[in-house]
Amino acid sequence: MSKQLGKKTKDAGMQTILAHYGDETFLGAVVPPVFINTLFTFDSYEAFHKAQWQEDTYYYSRISNPTQQIAEKKLAALEKGEAAKLFTSGMAAISSTLLHCLSQGDHVVCSYPIYGGTHQLLQNYLPRFGITADFVDFRQLDKVQAAIKPNTKMLYCEGLSTFYMDVFDIPAVVQIAKEHRLLTVMDNTCATPATMRPIEWGIDIVIHSASKYLSGHSDVTAGVVIASQERINAIANNEIVLLGATLAPLEAWLLTRGLKTFGLRMKQHAESAKQIALILSQHPQVSRVNLPLLEQHEQHELAAKQFSGNTGLFSFELHGGPSAVAKLMNNLKLFQIGVSWGGFESLIYSPGLALNPEQKSRTEHETRLEHTVRISVGLEDIDDLMEDFNQALASL
Ligand SMILES: *Cc1c(COP(=O)(O)O)cnc(C)c1O
Repeated sequence: MSKQLGKKTKDAGMQTILAHYGDETFLGAVVPPVFINTLFTFDSYEAFHKAQWQEDTYYYSRISNPTQQIAEKKLAALEKGEAAKLFTSGMAAISSTLLHCLSQGDHVVCSYPIYGGTHQLLQNYLPRFGITADFVDFRQLDKVQAAIKPNTKMLYCEGLSTFYMDVFDIPAVVQIAKEHRLLTVMDNTCATPATMRPIEWGIDIVIHSASKYLSGHSDVTAGVVIASQERINAIANNEIVLLGATLAPLEAWLLTRGLKTFGLRMKQHAESAKQIALILSQHPQVSRVNLPLLEQHEQHELAAKQFSGNTGLFSFELHGGPSAVAKLMNNLKLFQIGVSWGGFESLIYSPGLALNPEQKSRTEHETRLEHTVRISVGLEDIDDLMEDFNQALASL
């Protein structure tokens, strides 16, 4: 046997890691307690002095805390990375990482479409500090090459693009980054480490909104950055200490609890989503299903090479536009209307909802958004979810 089994090894299967790896035991408690304390006290001047300069010692919970560290160890192991740092949200993880890696005058080539918050940060906020970005469809590698300037420092991307779930050739992009000595950062929230681990493909830094599948119960807002130990130490000593977006212990504990069933949940989400995607792909009112792992999708071959499966998240487009989208959303009974995704509950959303209703004309991009419906298939019984979809589609 090549695997060294046991509770302390990272070299086990995903569910074994999540059940045991990184846990500390206290009085034999099967679930580690929550260290809710803000500070740690010391017996002597000397002990305190030593603690400040040693790793794995604690003195103030904004800097580090044992409850955070259990989740961090599991998340690093899950992504096959060396170390992880938790943040108060996905956006806190993204903004802290960008501020850590970039300085005045630096330029970023960012994949597009991208998560809205990331887009606004790079497009509107960071230029105030002299950091600029260009947005490119990473499916077109020549455009990625062409966007690189002498001051480009980073390629920032999502493995599955926001709303359309498009994929791009990850090894080819990593190769471009190597040639130009650029940092690569990937937001892996959509794909999750259950289907793809960017570090194994040569990406330097992985970011997640842990508010989605990782916690999975729609009751935690959190983010995480996974990278080399050296880089995580540098982020911990700078952005965590100075910007202070450290995840609170209770949230870290809830995240660890959610993680215990991550692998099982993802299997069920993926299976149910595939069945609903098949119903949709055969329906005459549906013009397109954005799920690259479906065989009829034009990116199927590339997707199958890079991803071991799908998740519960995908989108589709309706011939009937916004009125058909509204009708479908209103007619579904189990799929609730709401933002976010990745929880136990089935959700439905249209990116067209973010467009200003007063605005008279729409660009081509905006028109596509208005025709698009995104669903997060939850953990309800698949027969019930399919019945719900069938009745709502029949009314179109
Ligand atoms: C939700 C999300 C974020 C932001 O995460 P928060 O936890 O809401 O701050 C970032 N990237 C992607 C892809 C997301 O879906």
